[in-house]
Amino acid sequence: MMTALVTGASRGIGAACARALKAAGYDVIINYNNSEKAALELSAEIGAKAIRADVSDAAQVRRMFEEAGSVDVLVCNAGISVSKMFCDMTPDDWNRIFAVNFVGTVNCIEEALPSMIHNKFGRIITMSSIWGVTGASCESAYSATKAAIIGLSKSLAKELGPSGITVNCVAPGVIDTDMNAHLTPDIIEELKYETPVCSIGKVEDVAQAVCYLASAPFVTGQVLGVNGGFLI
Ligand code: NAP
Repeated sequence: MMTALVTGASRGIGAACARALKAAGYDVIINYNNSEKAALELSAEIGAKAIRADVSDAAQVRRMFEEAGSVDVLVCNAGISVSKMFCDMTPDDWNRIFAVNFVGTVNCIEEALPSMIHNKFGRIITMSSIWGVTGASCESAYSATKAAIIGLSKSLAKELGPSGITVNCVAPGVIDTDMNAHLTPDIIEELKYETPVCSIGKVEDVAQAVCYLASAPFVTGQVLGVNGGFLI
């Protein structure tokens, strides 16, 4: 059975990816950081191992992969957002968001690669955002991390293709999770109005795209928008 490790799988999009990959027949490993209760509940619900690690900490990520063993599908989903005007951003804000979103992705890919290269098989799926493609006012740092993830994913697709490893990126639009809990009903209505399919996204919409990329041997280096047509 193939093994899939999903980072940031205690809640939101990551939890939906874990459920969908389990339903698709993978042996799933759930990574979490703070939300232990939610992670353990999901672990019991779907029958998946849960491993705590802050993805920004290379040593913790190394220990997680030692415990996980060989991983065939890596979903680098863990992420945080900061909504501030550029002028209000502090050095700590910049460091933390890059450490989690970008360096966290790098840390996990580094640890997953030796066994993928040895097996000449791997599926790496990274999590960008619509804002990493088009930029977002008051989210310059978040958008920059998500743009960096696109550059990383495209480059690794070229470098790792000969080793049987595909690398693709999912770029969700606005998805109904805790990350968007600050949006008022008025803003949600406005977003729906501007979206061709007239809704915001569900976590399952992103999980479906992740499962597709996990199963697609001839698709690599792509940025798959899951945004209801908000950005075409
Ligand atoms: P969420 O509901 O806030 O969940 C974030 C997840 O990331 C949680 O499971 C959290 O785990 C985990 N996480 C955060 N920091 C971590 C760290 N240092 N180490 C390990 N795990 C960490 O967010 P979401 O909306 O599901 O977003 C998931 C991904 O999709 C993110 O990369 C986000 O940028 C991206 N995305 C989201 C949207 C959207 O509209 N929601 C749109 C585009 C892209 P703990 O709670 O256990 O700490």
